[in-house]
Amino acid sequence: MAPHATTPYTNGATNGGRVPVDDVSFNRTSAAAPVHPTAARRNIPVVVNSPTSQFTDEYITSKFEYRGADVVATENSIEVTPTVNNFEFRTQRKVQKTGLLMVGIGGNNGTTLTATIFANRHNITWRTKEGLQTPNYIGSVLRASTMRLGVDPKTGRDFNIPVSDVLPMVHPNDLVIGGWDISSLPLDKAMYRAQVLDWDLQRQVAPYMATIKPLPSIYYPDYIAANQSERADNLIPASLKKDHVEHIRRDIRKFKEENGLDRVIVFWTANTERYSDIVEGVNDTAENLLRAIENNHSEVSPSTIFAVASILEDAPFINGAPQNTFVPGCIKLAEQHRAFIGGDDLKSGQTKVKSVLAEFLVNAGIKPLSISSYNHLGNNDGRNLSSQAQFKSKEISKSSVVDDMVDANHLLFKRADKSLGERKNEHPDHIVVIKYVPAVGDSKRAIDEYYSEIMMGGRNTLNIFNECEDSLLATPLILDLTVLAELLTRVQYRRVPEGTEFQSLYSVLSLLSYMLKAPLVKPGTDVVNSLGRQRLALENFLKACLGLQHEGDLLLNTRTW
Ligand code: NAD
Repeated sequence: MAPHATTPYTNGATNGGRVPVDDVSFNRTSAAAPVHPTAARRNIPVVVNSPTSQFTDEYITSKFEYRGADVVATENSIEVTPTVNNFEFRTQRKVQKTGLLMVGIGGNNGTTLTATIFANRHNITWRTKEGLQTPNYIGSVLRASTMRLGVDPKTGRDFNIPVSDVLPMVHPNDLVIGGWDISSLPLDKAMYRAQVLDWDLQRQVAPYMATIKPLPSIYYPDYIAANQSERADNLIPASLKKDHVEHIRRDIRKFKEENGLDRVIVFWTANTERYSDIVEGVNDTAENLLRAIENNHSEVSPSTIFAVASILEDAPFINGAPQNTFVPGCIKLAEQHRAFIGGDDLKSGQTKVKSVLAEFLVNAGIKPLSISSYNHLGNNDGRNLSSQAQFKSKEISKSSVVDDMVDANHLLFKRADKSLGERKNEHPDHIVVIKYVPAVGDSKRAIDEYYSEIMMGGRNTLNIFNECEDSLLATPLILDLTVLAELLTRVQYRRVPEGTEFQSLYSVLSLLSYMLKAPLVKPGTDVVNSLGRQRLALENFLKACLGLQHEGDLLLNTRTW
């Protein structure tokens, strides 16, 4: 079926759902507002006609040839041996009833996300000075972007569908929301405090928001900035870390039972913590980490406590902040329990642009000499990051983003000569500055200068000024990460012909990388920071689950007779 005016794929996305003032009748009610295409339910399954794909009511099963190449450099040649590994994927079709428990639900991200879901669920429209605004999920890769499935044989044109329609995925409106915060403010008041959404929307979602009160949480004062202490009035009474783990586990179980959920995702969107020291015998192995918790060791952070509790409850845990929650022992614990984890740090504004621009420069054969990034912001995140130890965590996660692109090009960037005692490959100078300027609130301003070498000693300077409404960019990513994590718990695989039993994917969900600044990957494997490659990996994986091979942009139909 080709996309034309009557398909659900072209139902009129306009201007983010904003209707000009002239068109607005003051008597118009929310119920009359059309649902924005990013929030619409289409329920039209993709079915693949191929002997290698099987569709039953319960599962989509696909056979997939994973083609790669082994490359060995010898003195005289570079030998490439094509490889083929056969996989079978099995995806449970029924979407699970899913709850999202946010740590830090009372913050800017937590309240913005919750209000956005209520607004979409109840189709609440609100007035701005430009007109009537309808709710939407713009900024969500899954809900607001499309991918090419193939070609319409009649027209020879590309057929694109929303990413969220490729496989069955949770609709964000259906997520059951809850969470913890060290601040006791119910979510209506916390939303007022955040100052992110228009007042006319806040006013209307407030009664829904008021029904959610953050659960008491864990507060170890030296992990977040001292300037956060005045918020901390909602704490679990216990003082021992082992009791904290048990308390959080009980909270997860209770939330699951009370809401009749099949799956709970736990998401850290609380303040950025300082880094934990990696100490031998403390957090290096799963057993040592559990023992350190038992012994109330000071180098176990609140976020690691939440991660451990989630792993033990088989609830996927995603870290939306930059600190090293996933100490080696935590990753090993997840592996032992075959539980899912993902992180670190939401990639919303400056870093997302950087992961595109750095790749563009290096792949264009231009040599970035320096990348200088400056931000200022005035929300509570900025206030927390004005403290040095917490800024350090952010600086680390923001800095690694160009590493793989630079390392991939040894023509422009000299490899370390170990015989000369050089330890590091050549790298552009890269600095990151963050300043707290309360006046600008959630509207972060980021300035980046890319200073590069071009032909014959020339220089090229690119300056980017990016004004981002921080929480409105970040919250769709939380949704994407949650929805993808739920999907990935329904995908199993087996190797053919060796294995017979289907098993779940590896614990670290690196397929979430597109939305994350410093992607956590399987220890010992390469981190991919390039936004283009991250997106392609996601598209290819979704296609593989359907049994579709990656055809890339070879587009042989356009290049052959
Ligand atoms: P915020 O300061 O508004 O919210 C954080 C919330 O966490 C606060 O309500 C605070 O009381 C709570 N909190 C702190 N410690 C806690 C604990 N131990 N348990 C439970 N609650 C706790 O921050 P935000 O703007 O919502 O951002 C949240 C996190 O996401 C930050 O770490 C930030 O660095 C990260 N992040 C945000 C963006 C963005 O664009 N908004 C992008 C990348 C990463």
